[in-house]
Amino acid sequence: MKFETKAIHIGQEPESLTGAITVPIFQASTYSNESLGISKGYDYGRTINPTRSALEKNLASLENGTYSTCFSSGMAAIHSILSIFRPGDHIICSSNLYGGSYRLFENIFTKYGLIFDFVNTSIAENVEKTFRTNTKLVYIETPTNPLLEISDIEAIAKICFSHKAYLCVDNTFLSPYFQNPLDFGADIVIHSTTKYINGHCDIIGGVVVTNNEVIDEKLKFFQNSIGAVPSPFDCWLTLRSVKTLAIRMTTHNNNALHIYNFLKNNKKIKKIYYPGDKDHPLRTVIEKQMRGYGGIISIDLSSKESAKLFCNNLRIFTIAESLGGVESLVCHPATMTHTSVPEDIRNKIGITDGLVRLSVGIEHYEDLIGDVDYALSKV
Ligand SMILES: *Cc1c(COP(=O)(O)O)cnc(C)c1O
Repeated sequence: MKFETKAIHIGQEPESLTGAITVPIFQASTYSNESLGISKGYDYGRTINPTRSALEKNLASLENGTYSTCFSSGMAAIHSILSIFRPGDHIICSSNLYGGSYRLFENIFTKYGLIFDFVNTSIAENVEKTFRTNTKLVYIETPTNPLLEISDIEAIAKICFSHKAYLCVDNTFLSPYFQNPLDFGADIVIHSTTKYINGHCDIIGGVVVTNNEVIDEKLKFFQNSIGAVPSPFDCWLTLRSVKTLAIRMTTHNNNALHIYNFLKNNKKIKKIYYPGDKDHPLRTVIEKQMRGYGGIISIDLSSKESAKLFCNNLRIFTIAESLGGVESLVCHPATMTHTSVPEDIRNKIGITDGLVRLSVGIEHYEDLIGDVDYALSKV
C-alpha cells in the first residue's frame, strides 16, 4: 500500500459498533471487567487507549515499522528512549541537535550516569572514531535543527551494527513522507508529532517507531510506568492531521524550494542552509535517503540587529517557536529554541546571533516571497 493510502486507512477501519468512519475519541480512564479477571483487553487509560492504539498503528506503518509508542511530547518520547540505558553507558550524538534534546541529555541524563559525546555526524568516520567499548547508542538528527546538517543514515547504521549499538534518528524535520530511517538500518525513529505530523500547531506529541521487539517492549513499559501519554483528543487530532500529511509535505517542499531560489543569491544573506542546494556537499546522501527537502530554510543575516529587523518586518511569517505547521513561522534560534545551548558552543557550530530559521507553510508561495522580499529590504 502507498503512503497516502496508509495514512488514511491503517488503524482506521470503520468503528465496529456504529460504523463511524472516523476513529472515535475514547474519552475513558478505565474499562469495566465482565467478571473478575475477564476484560476486553482494555483496563486503564494510561496503559492502553483505543484512539491512541489507532494512531500508533498508523504511524508505525508510515515509518515502515512494526511497532510504535506515542507520548505526550517529543521530549517524553526521547526521554523514554534514553531510559533504556544504564549508568556508564556511552552515547554519541550529533553536535547540532534540537535545543531541548541537548538540554535533556546534558542537564538531566548525565546526572544519572549516561555519558554523551557530541560530534559532527555529517562525517560518518567521526562516529566510528568516537566509539568506545561502552557505546550503546548513536543519536542523530538529519536534517538537524536549525542548521539542516545531513548525516548518512545507512553508513552510520553499519558502524552501529558492527559495534552492537543502536542507531536512533530524530526524523521530525522531514516526516515519514520524505524519509524512513528504518529502511536504511536505523533501529529507532523518533518524531515530535507536534511538528509536521500533526502540522496544525494545536497539539504537543511524540512517537517512537521501531522494528525491534525488545526495544518496543521496553518503550511500552516506560510509556505505562512513567505515564507521559497523549490524551485521546490529541491522538484523534493527530490521526486526522496525518490524513493530509502527504499533500501538506508536498506543498511545504515546493514552497520552500521557491523561497530558496528567491533567496539564494541575495547579498544580505551571509549563508543559507537548505538541503535542496544543488551543490550540497552531501548531495549523494541526500538523494539516497530523502524523497524531498522539507519546508525549513535557515539564513544567516550576519548580526542580531539584522535578524531582528528581518523578523520584525515579516507580515505573513509569524515570529514563534516550533515549525512544521500549515502557517509560516520564523524563529531566532539563539534567543528562542536553542537558548539552552551555551553561547560558545552555539557560535562554534553555526547557531550565530544572525541566524534565522524559516518554517515555510502552505500559503501561496508568491505571498511568502513577497513577505521575505519586503522584510529583507528593511535589513
Ligand atoms: C520540537 C522538536 C523536538 C521536541 O518535541 P516536543 O514535541 O516539542 O517535545 C525534538 N526534536 C526536534 C527535531 C524538534 O524539532
